[in-house]
Amino acid sequence: MKPRASSEAVRRSMQSNRPRDTRLEREFRSALHRSGLRFRKNLRPLAGLRCEPDVVFTKLRLAIFIDGCWWHGCPIHGSQPVRNHDWWVAKLQTTKDRDARNDRALGDAGWQVLRFWEHEPLDKAVVAVLQEVLRLRGGNLNQASEEGAHD
Ligand SMILES: [Zn+2]
Repeated sequence: MKPRASSEAVRRSMQSNRPRDTRLEREFRSALHRSGLRFRKNLRPLAGLRCEPDVVFTKLRLAIFIDGCWWHGCPIHGSQPVRNHDWWVAKLQTTKDRDARNDRALGDAGWQVLRFWEHEPLDKAVVAVLQEVLRLRGGNLNQASEEGAHD
């Protein structure tokens, strides 16, 4: 049985780490879009793998995740509540294991994976994505743009 959030901080953290389309993810995608990048979202790169990166460059086979500090166990902000401790430890470990499994599956299929913590500055993440796109395109950032869909 799912325990109730044991404190206001935990409750807020849980609410702010919904699995998709958090404010941060929208801001991140907007920033990438302003940088001229075109990409997809809410797309499963691999058939049969329940994994939807926050941003997907299908042609480049580049998958990008913004990981919530709480759910994904950020080394700085990840914490394990005292109440219902064992339940939370198992729950958070499940998330970490799934992340690792997804990274491996994507890597095995020839995809590059970039992960950012939600606490990382947005512009730093955008620069890292631009650098990776540049690298994968062999140095040409202005190559014919990726497929058009964007929120
Ligand atoms: Zn963090």
